[in-house]
Amino acid sequence: MSPPKAPSTTSASEPRREQRRNGLGVSAGIAIGRAYLIGRDTLKAPRHHVEADDVDTEIARLKKALSASDKQLEKIKAKLASENESDYHIIDAHQLMLQDEHLVDRANTYISDELICAEWALRKAVDNIVSVFDAVEDEYLRERRSDVEFVFERVLRNLLGREAGPLSPPPDAIVVAYDLSPADTALLHKAAVAGLLTDAGGKTSHTAIIARAHEIPAVVGLEDLTEVVETDDLLILDGTAGVVIVNPSAATVAEYREEQRQQAAAAAVLMTNRAEPALTSCGVPIAMLANIDGPDEIDDALEYGAVGVGLVRTEYVYMTSDQLPEEQQHYESAKSLLEKMAGRPVTLRTFDLGADKLARFLEEADLGEANPALGLRSIRLCLASLGMPLFVSQLRGLLRASMHGPMRIMFPMISGVGELREARAVLDGVKADLRAEGIAFDEGIKVGIMIEMPSAALMSEMLAHECDFFSIGTNDLIQYTMAVDRVNEHVSYLYEPLHPALLRLIGEIASNAKRAGITATICGEMASDAVIVPVLIGLGLRDLSMSAVSIPEVKSAIRKFSVAEAEALVAEIRNLPTVEEVRTAVERFATSRKLVRAAKAG
Ligand code: PEP
Ligand code: MG
Repeated sequence: MSPPKAPSTTSASEPRREQRRNGLGVSAGIAIGRAYLIGRDTLKAPRHHVEADDVDTEIARLKKALSASDKQLEKIKAKLASENESDYHIIDAHQLMLQDEHLVDRANTYISDELICAEWALRKAVDNIVSVFDAVEDEYLRERRSDVEFVFERVLRNLLGREAGPLSPPPDAIVVAYDLSPADTALLHKAAVAGLLTDAGGKTSHTAIIARAHEIPAVVGLEDLTEVVETDDLLILDGTAGVVIVNPSAATVAEYREEQRQQAAAAAVLMTNRAEPALTSCGVPIAMLANIDGPDEIDDALEYGAVGVGLVRTEYVYMTSDQLPEEQQHYESAKSLLEKMAGRPVTLRTFDLGADKLARFLEEADLGEANPALGLRSIRLCLASLGMPLFVSQLRGLLRASMHGPMRIMFPMISGVGELREARAVLDGVKADLRAEGIAFDEGIKVGIMIEMPSAALMSEMLAHECDFFSIGTNDLIQYTMAVDRVNEHVSYLYEPLHPALLRLIGEIASNAKRAGITATICGEMASDAVIVPVLIGLGLRDLSMSAVSIPEVKSAIRKFSVAEAEALVAEIRNLPTVEEVRTAVERFATSRKLVRAAKAG
């Protein structure tokens, strides 16, 4: 990470004061860097003063952005010209605006007279024009206001370099956005950003999960941070404490650099233990598995000590590409996973699209659902005519790959026995086709289900007789048990893994699995919380699947208590009626055994 540059604000503006904001820390670690702001619907024009020496540069930037906008409009016009006369003329009018002296000359004057950046000057010039439109009586003319805004937005995008791709922050930037789609987050990790901050979001939003998987420190649920931060502001992000500091003083930066150093040292100590077995202090083995999105995460999973992959979120192959994957791609991706895991077990979940995990083909289908989290998503989509061809080609690809290593197939969001039977029937049909075609696959392949809705938890006794394993998806199980949207920051206070209702459901699922002689893994983010893990062990779980980066800390925690102690903890909390009482007891246990390093106070 590069050291912070000197603040870019000048004496022409008041130095901006240090401000501290609290949100939900969803991916641990400290980042110190410059803000890269992504506005909500429209982009926000940064407002900076500039030095007199920079005036020519700002004017040149504006000129370049105007000319790029003109070229883009020319292209659009060429496409529209043959199709629609009136649109063609609108584009003409927009191009004329790009040369309008009221816009261009005035913006240049603002830059040189008021020493402000091109974006701010452009906004002021646009505001001027817009105020004239607002004042006129004629409705048609008043509506032309939106044309000016349209042109402004385009030039602004070019000024901010946002036209080349959806998001292009410089490396080491801290991205500040109202919200980020999981696909955006996946792309941002490739851009090597230092941290992520969002106004919206919850602890188990998929954005948070991806941030953790790629070890990008992140804080979400900051409500109005995008209103407070400007591009290039210096920021400190503490993903453990859920704190953001805008325009920190030099003393604060030094304090956080020291904390960053201590965290790195603590992580290094944990990593030295990674080869040790994951045994409780009484010697009971706990399987430490990784949750991943694709083959490129295997190296990290092994590095952190995973003994297998408990969840592959295969839908990411649909989300990050414009082309729908074909059978061969599923085959190759699964084969590569199995080969890299070299004989260790891999559980592949069939695609779980919908709600916040949107793919291009779903956007195009435009389902128009009022409640996508309760809608045609996940296994429901696979079993509907819209998703069936994708489901079948995925199952064919996976089954063919099953010859390359120990693979398990898992269906997400199963609501009950009927739906499980339906999904199994499709799988059986695919197997029959492969046999008829003489294509080999693992005839003994294990088939399991995610338990992530209360109906499945309540039916777990019967479900356990019709599948080979359970994987408890607590991220969704909490959402559907508590009726709390997992990505909604306004109700995140209710999103509580230690809610007594949830613990009862997990206990029920674990004992039904045990009675039927099948394994139950936890693959929700709850498994990665070293404070909570004793509760899971006490409830009878022995298989934990999590973001790979959490494995060293969870493993170190497991080695510090016995199964009998974990069971005593569960017995103690079993009759506690509120989350607060449960949390107090669980944290007391964790502190007494030093399960986690004391975090810096937020
Ligand atoms: C879950 O719901 O807990 C889970 C692991 O699945 P996802 O987070 O992908 O919905
Ligand atoms: Mg889920």
